[in-house]
Amino acid sequence: MIFQVSDETKMILETMHDFVREEVYPLEEQYLIDGIRSLQSSLEEKRKKARDLGFWLPQISKEYGGMGFTLMEHGYVSEILGRSPLGHYVFNCQAPDAGNMEILIEYGSEEQKETFLSPLLDGEIRSCFAMTEPDYPGSNPTWMSTSAVKDGEEYSINGNKWFTSAADGASFAIVMAVTNPDAEKHFRASQIIVPMGTPGFEVVRNTPVMGEPGEGYGSHSELQFIDCSVPVTNRLGEEGAGFVIAQQRLGPGRIHHCMRWIGICERAFDLMCAHAVQREVAPGRTLASQGTIENWVAESRAEINAARLMVLDAAHKIDQEGTYAARDEISLIKFHVANVLQEVLDRAIQIHGAMGMTDYTPLAFWYRHERAARIYDGPDEVHKRSVARRIFRRYS
Ligand SMILES: Cc1cc2nc3c(=O)[nH]c(=O)nc-3n(C[C@H](O)[C@H](O)[C@H](O)COP(=O)(O)OP(=O)(O)OC[C@H]3O[C@@H](n4cnc5c(N)ncnc54)[C@H](O)[C@@H]3O)c2cc1C
Repeated sequence: MIFQVSDETKMILETMHDFVREEVYPLEEQYLIDGIRSLQSSLEEKRKKARDLGFWLPQISKEYGGMGFTLMEHGYVSEILGRSPLGHYVFNCQAPDAGNMEILIEYGSEEQKETFLSPLLDGEIRSCFAMTEPDYPGSNPTWMSTSAVKDGEEYSINGNKWFTSAADGASFAIVMAVTNPDAEKHFRASQIIVPMGTPGFEVVRNTPVMGEPGEGYGSHSELQFIDCSVPVTNRLGEEGAGFVIAQQRLGPGRIHHCMRWIGICERAFDLMCAHAVQREVAPGRTLASQGTIENWVAESRAEINAARLMVLDAAHKIDQEGTYAARDEISLIKFHVANVLQEVLDRAIQIHGAMGMTDYTPLAFWYRHERAARIYDGPDEVHKRSVARRIFRRYS
């Protein structure tokens, strides 16, 4: 019973689910075929409607204009919104803005909050988070080349980043850069806010992913910094605290991702079942009557249910004991749910036959873009390794 939510929250979740089905699903076909820019005015209209209903910033505290859900409650929200590729965006809790909001609330100065956080919370601007570099391993974030050298009251930033999601059209980037090269490796980098348009900061291109360069919010960019100067007051938190802040952001962020993936699994499951019961493979004989399809449906149901319980368990532990205490659970869900997602999407596509390869359902879009779930926020192998090492420590 520990994963139960109040009757009031249950009602909110049901209304949100109806909203996503009735208001957001109908936008998907245009998004998948014509791209997000073609939809911008409809999306803004839906955002206003969601906000008028009180569905805005579910993960942010009431003090900052959000719904004030616990991480576990937000897990349920994230599952509902994850059923559509546009769900999180409409409720203004999309990555990477959601994580940027959280760290600005926790570490931002009053001036940073006013300039960068307020318009982000209002949905007037977007942001991005630039940590990974093309020539250094993202799986070892303590090792990077981008530097920020202090010169009086300014930092001069030099370096290259890539896979900075949603940089195209963003108003600012939070950039990880080495400020203290001689410190212990976990205390070398800082997080620095760099507004787009700052001289020396260029979005070089959008990197194509599985054949799609993407655009706007739905893209991943390469960034270049050449002698880019920003005031020292643009640094978030203490100098050298960049890695610690990043770790703090990633714990809750993984719950958000994992529950979004459960939402994708549930939508794929709905689509596969609906298709299986109506598609005839011979007159009067549907796909649903085939043993293999029955197995896939039963296996998918078991895997999704189990994955959800694991994620809620991790969220509950973070709510109760904090991110550090829940680090094993966070690593376990990160690789486990990413693999369940891939398996369920693959079965759903297979059941749809050629239709599964089209963009007339969101399945192919997710199959292309969520393959990355096993890579970003720590590749599978890194999470497995860190959990296994901690387990072995208890035995030795
Ligand atoms: C779609 C997408 C969106 C992203 N968005 C962002 C973003 O917004 N901001 C940002 O900063 N970054 C972003 N990233 C980058 C992401 O965080 C990195 O790709 C990730 O950290 C892995 O780093 P890498 O690609 O450099 O792989 P590497 O570190 O080079 O690792 C390559 C592979 O080696 C293996 N490996 C690595 N270490 C180990 C180990 N210790 N043991 C065993 N095997 C290992 C893994 O299989 C791994 O996949 C995004 C990536 C993708 C694909």
